[in-house]
Amino acid sequence: MKCKRCGELAAVKLPSHHTGFCPDCFELFFRKQVETAIRRHAMIQPGEKVLVAVSGGKDSLALMRVLSDLGHDVDGLHVHLGIPDSSDPVCERTESYCRDNGFRLHVLRTAEVGLAIPKVKDAVRRPICAVCGKIKRHYFNRFAYENGYAALATGHNLDDEVARLFANVLRWDATYLGSQGPTLPAEGRFVRKIKPLYRVTEFETAAYCFLKGIDHWKAACPYSGGASFTGHKKLFADLEDRSPGQKTAFYEAFLEKGRPQFTGTSRNGMDTLYACSECGYPSSGEVCGVCRIRAQVAAAGA
Ligand code: SF4
Ligand code: ZN
Repeated sequence: MKCKRCGELAAVKLPSHHTGFCPDCFELFFRKQVETAIRRHAMIQPGEKVLVAVSGGKDSLALMRVLSDLGHDVDGLHVHLGIPDSSDPVCERTESYCRDNGFRLHVLRTAEVGLAIPKVKDAVRRPICAVCGKIKRHYFNRFAYENGYAALATGHNLDDEVARLFANVLRWDATYLGSQGPTLPAEGRFVRKIKPLYRVTEFETAAYCFLKGIDHWKAACPYSGGASFTGHKKLFADLEDRSPGQKTAFYEAFLEKGRPQFTGTSRNGMDTLYACSECGYPSSGEVCGVCRIRAQVAAAGA
């Protein structure tokens, strides 16, 4: 197959776009997809500072790289979770990538705020990933808000978004359907949340990392029970095989026709937002979920 743009030998085949690209033209394609996402969904205004949530995996490192290459002012925040045999090497790899590429990286250690994930796991009788996700979202937003970033960017790709949408549709969860999208506007102490990779697939992001020599962390978290929404992703992979372009069509149609039916809830799916009496950040009750978890961890350790 020849590159659609320059006619050289194609290195990356993209059936959903009925095309293939050589390495240089694939990079241009990838950047263009991200540029389009940013423009269509008013993600970043000129001169705004953006904080990238950096886990050290392929999506977040690709996101740092492409936003910077597009001329945006980006810093990273890595949340060190205190998980033995995992958090230290992930953090070191992320720091060395950012150092080598001239990116400013902040590191926040949850152990320093009373929330080392192994302790949380022992103290809280709930699936650890739900609790860990809540803690990470809280601190990414809080750091962005307190340090004057206009937006928080996460590395969710098209496969992540389609799988989440499908899960929400299966439950007809109106609250989540109303608050899912590539840009969630700022609201109170919530900074704007953006997903600039929502138009590129997991495969395209992996190809981008490979071609750009981005050395990302590949091992799964020891607490992970497998990637999230694996079953839904397989289902859509089958659909895409038989009929290329279905993932994009499903998600774009949701944005255009589906989501407007589910408006009216707040951006994080909470009907009413209060300020947490402990930390002051948005909460669905008097004390936010993260402050309640911290209290449980403290009580278990007492
Ligand atoms: Fe946290 Fe679960 Fe992800 Fe591990 S797999 S980092 S515990 S959300
Ligand atoms: Zn709180």
